[in-house]
Amino acid sequence: MRGSATPGGTPPPNPPGTHSGMWFGGDYNPEQWDAAVWAQDDVLMREASVNTATVGVFSWALLEPAEGRFEFGWLDAVLDRLHANGVRVILATPTASPPPWFTLAYPDAMPVTRDGTRLWHGSRDTYCAAAPSYRRAALRIAGELARRYAGHPALAMWHVHNEYGTRCWCDHAAAGFRRWLRARYGDGDHGLAALNEAWGTAFWSQRYSAWEQILPPLATQYLPNPGQDLDFRRFWSDELLAAFTQQRDVLRQNSPGIPVTTNFMGPDHLVVDAWSWAREVDVVAVDHYLSSAGPRGLADIAFCADWARSVGGGRPWLLMEQAPSVVIENGLMVHREPGRMLRDSLGYVARGADSVLFFQWRASRSGAEMYHPALVPHAGPDTRIFAEAAELGAVLRRLAGVAGSVVTADAAVLVDTDSRWALESRGLPSPHVRHLDVARAAHAALWRSGIGCDIAAPDADLSRYRLVVVPAVYLLTDAAAATLRRYTDGGGHLVVTFCSGIADESHRIRIGGYPGALRDILGIRAEEFHPLPPGTTARLSAATPTGAHGNLWTERLRAEGAEILARYADGVLAGLPAITRHCYGTGTAWYLSTLPDDDALDALLLEAASAAGVRPALPGAPPGVCVTRRHGNGARSWLFAVNHSDRAATLPAVGVDLITGREVTGTLELPPHGVAVIRDA
Ligand SMILES: [Zn+2]
Repeated sequence: MRGSATPGGTPPPNPPGTHSGMWFGGDYNPEQWDAAVWAQDDVLMREASVNTATVGVFSWALLEPAEGRFEFGWLDAVLDRLHANGVRVILATPTASPPPWFTLAYPDAMPVTRDGTRLWHGSRDTYCAAAPSYRRAALRIAGELARRYAGHPALAMWHVHNEYGTRCWCDHAAAGFRRWLRARYGDGDHGLAALNEAWGTAFWSQRYSAWEQILPPLATQYLPNPGQDLDFRRFWSDELLAAFTQQRDVLRQNSPGIPVTTNFMGPDHLVVDAWSWAREVDVVAVDHYLSSAGPRGLADIAFCADWARSVGGGRPWLLMEQAPSVVIENGLMVHREPGRMLRDSLGYVARGADSVLFFQWRASRSGAEMYHPALVPHAGPDTRIFAEAAELGAVLRRLAGVAGSVVTADAAVLVDTDSRWALESRGLPSPHVRHLDVARAAHAALWRSGIGCDIAAPDADLSRYRLVVVPAVYLLTDAAAATLRRYTDGGGHLVVTFCSGIADESHRIRIGGYPGALRDILGIRAEEFHPLPPGTTARLSAATPTGAHGNLWTERLRAEGAEILARYADGVLAGLPAITRHCYGTGTAWYLSTLPDDDALDALLLEAASAAGVRPALPGAPPGVCVTRRHGNGARSWLFAVNHSDRAATLPAVGVDLITGREVTGTLELPPHGVAVIRDA
């Protein structure tokens, strides 16, 4: 099933060619401009210390203007020019946007939505990855590119496709889904019986008597079958992964030694299971677009970066895209305040990124994303944004030695794709509980306390962590539950929230009291769910900060061996346990039957961390200052300090500040919003 790439101990060696300094630049689309603009691009890239360009992401219609007729001359010139200017190229296969000729020639490869609507060209990502004609065409253009550019000196990495994430409900998808189900459950009557059992088809007369009767979860009258929906999501993640690995293999065959990646859309992307995908790329590359310009955005940078590092097994990773300055909030363009380009970018680098790349270099003058921000805005280079880009480029040059170093953590928050998918189902006790929201809340609490944190899959080897948080991991396999049991029994410190361990891998409830998979570890038993409506809270008593309250969820809980740390203070649950702690084996397991407010959650997780012997990266760092450390070979390390507050801060440090070049002999003075990267002496 789904497994973690997170190993114990030292991360594996880095792929070749990926850690020659910090990569800085972004998507470059010169086909939208003429030669006069190209000449200006060359000058401005030098001025901003740009050393990396992602090229050709959406160039299929120019590279193959008619089926089987290829025009590479213009791309030859782009790569030659970039190379002459000292810019390495991440070359994309353009398969996320087939040309109009393709869609007219192969209408069966156009995607069909759940309600049966066929989509047509006019945007991007309009194809069905399960359609054989699409797969053949994609493989052909990837092979042509690989053969032509294999030896080009500018070529540093292959970038397959773009942000894989499209699903389809057509007949090709139906056939693929049935093949996938036969592989999962076994062929013939025995497999069909296993499928019927897993999906609970005894309910509502859904029992299948032949494989041909099984369809994708198309639009239907009332609630769809949750097991069918979950398997269809798994099928599409695997189908898209097969489309990726086909291209990857043809690139590897024709262009040996050049690493291959594809850009993941960050932790929020719902369509692909990053844990299984990350095993198939040479280096993890992530696009991250913030949804908030405020403090929530800062916590989200840390969450995304810890996630990106962790899915790649702890190795350095590439920030492949972010937006310069702008965040879209409620449909409105909101600019982050001046200085954030550097501070936010260092937030990713501090957590293991070896690149800072943007979409895109120069703002388009036309097309659907003409208002997408860029390093060279519509107003040109005489702008605040380009000045900040040049400042960032200069700083990253000074951080070249950091590339390849790693980040380690003693705490982990579990993130599970199946639980995310299952909690998307309709008909659950609350539509407001989302796995990643709860994971983010736990991660943010550790982040506010300065505690470094990995993200891990439930079936990962957790033995190297002192503290593990299980945030609404709703589905748990028997194997994952056994891992958590072993971990706690062996002395681990486990914090489990509501909505964890409720169902098995087929989304069947584990009966006998919630959470069926974890009751023994936690020493508790819940018999009723009482989810809270949005905007309401539940008051908590005792052992939590005064005035503490719970959000999102409550439940009728009974302690069966666990110590009660806090109770519900009023309502129908008044006096019943809300937060508990249980000794299990030589370890300790906390249970949170509600989501405590930030102050109470900070206090609880800090207490659990302290009991586990987990310390902040820099104990005593002032509030609002993010401190992290990257470790190189031997004893060398780099301390990253980013002051997000309006107040000057001082912290203990010894070494050389690579940003100012100054020696720090005991105390680092950080101005308001200041940054420092201290290389240990
Ligand atoms: Zn399809």
